[in-house]
Amino acid sequence: MKLFRLRSLLLPGGLLLAGGIATAQAPTAPDANKPAPPPAIRSFDLAAIDTTADPCTDFYQYACGNWVKTNPIPGDQVRWARSFSMLGERNRYLLWEELDAAAKSPASPLQKQFGDYFAACMNTGLVEQKGLTPLEPALKRIDALTDARKLATLIGDLATEGSPAPLFGFGVSQDDKDSTKQIAGVFQGGTSLPDRDYYIVDSKRFDGIRKQYVEHVTRMFVLAGDTPEKAAREAAAVMEIETALARAQTSRTDLREPENRYHIYTVADFQKLTPDFDYSVYFKAVKVRPFETLNVATPNFFKALNELIAKEPVDAWKSYFRWHTLHASATNLPKAFFDENFEFFGKTLAGQKEPTPRWKQCTSMTDRALGEAVGQDWVKNNFPPAAKQSMDKLVAALEKSLGDDIKTLPWMTDATKKAAEDKLAMIRNKIGYPEKWRDYTALKVDRNDLIGNIHRDAVFSRNWNLDHLGKPVDEKEWGMTPPTVNAYYDPSFNDINFPAGILQPPFFDFKIDPAVNFGGIGVVIGHEMTHGFDDEGSKYDGNGNLREWQTPEDRKAFTERTTCVADEYSGFEAAPAKGDTPAQKLNGKLTLGENTADNGGLRIAYMALLDTLAAEGKTINDKIDGYTEAQRYFLGFAQVWCQNQTEQSARQAALTDPHSPGRWRVNGSVQNFDEFGKAFGCAKGQPMYPVSSCRVW
Ligand SMILES: [Zn+2]
Repeated sequence: MKLFRLRSLLLPGGLLLAGGIATAQAPTAPDANKPAPPPAIRSFDLAAIDTTADPCTDFYQYACGNWVKTNPIPGDQVRWARSFSMLGERNRYLLWEELDAAAKSPASPLQKQFGDYFAACMNTGLVEQKGLTPLEPALKRIDALTDARKLATLIGDLATEGSPAPLFGFGVSQDDKDSTKQIAGVFQGGTSLPDRDYYIVDSKRFDGIRKQYVEHVTRMFVLAGDTPEKAAREAAAVMEIETALARAQTSRTDLREPENRYHIYTVADFQKLTPDFDYSVYFKAVKVRPFETLNVATPNFFKALNELIAKEPVDAWKSYFRWHTLHASATNLPKAFFDENFEFFGKTLAGQKEPTPRWKQCTSMTDRALGEAVGQDWVKNNFPPAAKQSMDKLVAALEKSLGDDIKTLPWMTDATKKAAEDKLAMIRNKIGYPEKWRDYTALKVDRNDLIGNIHRDAVFSRNWNLDHLGKPVDEKEWGMTPPTVNAYYDPSFNDINFPAGILQPPFFDFKIDPAVNFGGIGVVIGHEMTHGFDDEGSKYDGNGNLREWQTPEDRKAFTERTTCVADEYSGFEAAPAKGDTPAQKLNGKLTLGENTADNGGLRIAYMALLDTLAAEGKTINDKIDGYTEAQRYFLGFAQVWCQNQTEQSARQAALTDPHSPGRWRVNGSVQNFDEFGKAFGCAKGQPMYPVSSCRVW
């Protein structure tokens, strides 16, 4: 449960995939009875290049154009990226092999546990046979609700048995202003569509989606046994409640400001804010240790929720909870529910053509539930000590570059430079996997009870999180499973985290020249480090506390520079106009942290490459395969981001994803870095080598 920990990731959470191997192998022949391994991915791909394009006009088109043309989106994907998706698919396949073997013949109690979890998910015959039976206890509780003022009891009871208990989030995390303390907090929630805009923006496109959503909710109720008339009434009530909740939610962009999500209340004052919902009943049900104060991240949401509890009839609330119970389990219910869920959430909302195959769904689900169990074997098999040593060296090279960069920043005063260097020196590096594995002994797994396993895992994970309350912070904990293809910076820990899953080709390849590795994993490391100094991370000091360490004049200069980046990216198009649907522009404020990190990462990895080449007696102008080291660096960087994406997914991401799409991660970054224009011999004033550009770090 990472409710308040708004960590800065390298790419959206939806692409978190599991598994991995350190060396690329040739694919084996597909076997009809088992999933086929995806092909190996080249770290540097001359065939991806569109040689008809001009790198100085549109570098993304040049570096990726031919790949984009020849790699259509597979039917079960909505975004297909050359590096992330292909590596993710490969890793997931390798993890599937591990889980499949553990399900058939486990060699240890741990393998039995995750093997059974996986096997229960794969047993679709049993899923059909059980129908809605596993949800009956929750549905009965909901049906027995007689008074909306007893919602706290209902939510508490649902949470106790691990059933979905929507409306808001509750968990423990570090205090933003004292990172040595772990405190309780509540967070807004309660909606099903991807963003509040889907409920409240007035446009033809969203009107259409809302209509289709209500029809989908209606059909789910009918599948659960309700008459069409009753189902339609219920769906209307769900839409009314969710729309009211969406209106009360703080927007994603406003949540980027840490002060907007930090409001310490005493429990008594919080209760006064919401007299119609008895939080003490809920806190008791989830068995959290007593506490006196908590962070009410978004007070306006909780005020509005209270008004809604007083206003909506009890039958509307019953419909709302009934919907969330069905919706949360839809992919693990009989096929009719699975298909109905896919038609709306997969096809209509994201443009996905075919459902995700069961083996992929179950592999990812097992990794999410038991990641530090499945990761143990994976690390043993696939993450050699030499890989960690190489990463330590690379990280040290990047730290030095960022330090040099800070020293030479033209806009920053010496006092603030000193503070920035202190913060940089305090960043902790976590590479590969945790030193101490999480203990899963208390999680009971039953090979014949898929939904029971999911519910028990929900309780297990919540207990694990709530147990942190009041305890000292464990700096060794990880927020990602070892086989994951992603990375993150955590402002409260002030640490950068690189799971073993991303430390392999095409990001990190022992067999390729340093220019390509610095363009790949080097930029990833620089990206995560720069997050400590982006619009959000820069508000925290080296100890992970929300505290201003820049002088007022430096903060002003910093904001002028981040505004330049935000305005620039707001001009980029995420999806072109289509029919009477207007073009969708990027939200430069929502993506500011990621764009700042991309720009900083590209600059400091380049500086680290120069140092490395100099130490080896080489120069940036040496050529391999017709390209200089500088050109290979920029091509290696750009080819990480080659992608195809459905129009629906691109529009959804523009509202919800703090990362820019591949094209702008590439072009936005290179056009802000003059070394790119020089490397490709561009003329000053060409699009990728503009006369004036934006720079923060
Ligand atoms: Zn990031």
